[in-house]
This record gives sequence, structure tokens and C-alpha cells, in this order.
Amino acid sequence: MRLIFLFTLLVTTFFAHSQRNCGSSLYASRFGNKIFNQQNMSYNRDTIRDEVIIIPVVVHVLYNNNAQNISDAQIRSQLDVLNEDFRRMNADASNTPDAFKPKSADTKIMFCLAQINPAGAPAKGIVRKYTSNTMFDVNDAMKFSAAGGDNAWNSKKYLNIWVCNMGSNAIGYSSQPGGQADRDGVVIQYTAFGRIGSLIPNFNRGRTATHEIAHWLGLSHIWGDSECGNDGIDDTPQQSNYNNNCPSFPSVSSCSPDSNGDMFMNFMDYTNDACINMFTNGQKTKMRGQFSINGPRNSFMNSIVCDSSLAISNDTVVVVKTVVPSFNIYPNPAISELNIEGTNGFDLKGKVLKLYSSSGILQFTKSNLISSEKINISQLHSGVYFLSIISGRESKVLKLIKQ
Ligand code: ZN
Ligand code: CA
Repeated sequence: MRLIFLFTLLVTTFFAHSQRNCGSSLYASRFGNKIFNQQNMSYNRDTIRDEVIIIPVVVHVLYNNNAQNISDAQIRSQLDVLNEDFRRMNADASNTPDAFKPKSADTKIMFCLAQINPAGAPAKGIVRKYTSNTMFDVNDAMKFSAAGGDNAWNSKKYLNIWVCNMGSNAIGYSSQPGGQADRDGVVIQYTAFGRIGSLIPNFNRGRTATHEIAHWLGLSHIWGDSECGNDGIDDTPQQSNYNNNCPSFPSVSSCSPDSNGDMFMNFMDYTNDACINMFTNGQKTKMRGQFSINGPRNSFMNSIVCDSSLAISNDTVVVVKTVVPSFNIYPNPAISELNIEGTNGFDLKGKVLKLYSSSGILQFTKSNLISSEKINISQLHSGVYFLSIISGRESKVLKLIKQ
């Protein structure tokens, strides 16, 4: 019975994700396809052509069971995939058909697991949190602690990635640039994240995050989300619809501009992970434009959190004491002999000592002190005295108890 249940679950899961199910368009329809919190704030500087832009990432792992609490290694494998795909260092770049190779781009965008948390302390860019939610929908609940998720880190400095169980609702989805700050980021199904661990067969190479982060950087689906639609990118050929699975090149559709047909190996199509391997130069320009001086992601040009050396150290406790040069007397209370020493760099040498009764009557004076004094107080009556060390117009006073 249990086996049958397990089998049913596997079959259900398999068919739920047999084709790419990106929720970004659904998300846009639910939460608005337009910029609803545009902040054209200049943070730092403009981009420089082809400089490498590094984006700090925080991964929020939301788990309801152990399987959903994916390993650090699985998370790191996803970062590897992103850096390969966006830099066109992916091993399968050679699978890009020759006809499209001249259009393929190294975007010069990279990613790191954030090394500093929002409080300035060292971090590893991974937050793990148990959730009582067994499944999430394309509704941003995972982005809010109050809804069983985990609040975003400052989305002006961090790319937030929530990894959780989306069930069959979507394999992933992204917010759009310029959106609401606390909803900004991407969500990825935990069985489609990274390229090691327990993954959905068609989506086991970490390309779901590549695709969703490209949405986060302003790209649209390559077919423009409509029949022979427009993705706003000149060098991606128009295609009639999305592709599934793994077509053979060339795959010509009703609105193909030429015999090369669809660019089904583009990361922004719906083809399987094993069949997508490129961004175009036009897509690169669009994504890098987000970081320009008035772009919605310009603040990332000012983010330092990839560099752990800039963190406030956890293991160095800096105790700031107010160090005031003064003097010390001992023992106190004293019976006969009293020791007097300078402290914190204060030297008694050459200074003047005056001892007063509690009513302010001078008992005795000693001039020209040496650094470590001993005075005999055996002749004093028992009671409270004030011992003053005088240096020019400045005096320091301690209370002495004579027994
Ligand atoms: Zn998508
Ligand atoms: Ca196009």
C-alpha cells in the first residue's frame, strides 16, 4: 500500500513537472506586470562596458521535511551553474547550433553566496528555516516570515532566492525589476535547484534558476508569452510558441524568420535543462542595462557583501573601555602602611600628595612623590579620609578608610 502510494506520488510529481512550468507570467498577472514601486535612485555609478558584475545571493531554504532541507553542496552546485551559464562557461555551450553561436553571449554577470549578512556580520549566504507549510503557491507566502516563509534580506544589496516545495504550482518564478522590495527575488522548487541531490529528471542541471534569474534581470520568455509574440530582444528569432522537451535543430515554426527556426536552446524557452545552453548578446545588453545608473538594479554596483573581509568579525570582541589615567591605593581599608601607585599611564613622580579628613581638614602633605609610594598612616584616627594627588592645577581624589 505504502509502495503504491509512493509510486503514485512519484508519477504525480513526474507528470506535474514533465514540462517546464515557470510561474513568472502567472505571477505578473497576479501581482502586476508593471513597475509598481519604481525607484530611480542613483546609488553609485554607471556600469562599465563588460566589467564583471557580481551579485550577492542569499538562499532561503524553507523545509517541512528533511528532503526539502537541501544540502549546502546542492546549493553551491547551483551557484556553479549560474556562474557557468551567465559567463558562457557551461560545458554544453558547444551544443549551441553553429547558426546561433555568433549570437551567444558571456553576460559578464556572476554570483556569490553573500559573505556578510544585513547586520554586517560574517555569513554564508544560506538561511535554513522550518516551515509548517507543506506546499507554497505563486503568491509570495515564502517571502514573509508571518506567512510561514522567511523575510527577504535587503533586496537592494542581495538577490533573494527562496527554495521550497512548490508542488505542481510552478517549478519556479521571479519578480520583475523595479517591483516591491520585500517581494523581490526568485523562488525555485527544491527538486529543481542545483545539479546534485534528488532532482526532477528534466530539470536536474540547475537551469530553472538560470531562467528565473534572467527574468529577475528583466528578460521575457523567448516567444513573448503569446502566439508569435515579441520578447523585446532583436537577436532572438520570433517563434510561434514555447518548446518542450528537446527538439532537434532546426525546428522551424509558422513565424520563424528563416530556416534556422526557433532558438529552443535559449535559457528563456521551456525546453529541458539538458537542451538549453545560451543567452544572446541582445539578452546580455538587456540584463546588464538593469545595473545602469538609473536602472532598477543599480544598487548592486555598490554591494560589498561578496567580500567577507569587510564583515564585522564575530570572533574579535572589541571592548572599548574608558581609560582614564589615575592612581590606586591599597590596602583599603588600611591600618598602618598604604601603597599608592599610578594607573593607566599616570605617574606619581614629582607630584604632591595631600590627605584630608572627611571634614576637609588637611592632615599632611608630601611633595615630590616617587612612582611607587608607601606612606605610614598609623598615627591617624580611624575613619574616612580623602587622599588627593595634585599635579599643577589638576587633582585626583580617592577615598581612604583608616581602621
Ligand atoms: Zn519563465
Ligand atoms: Ca526576439
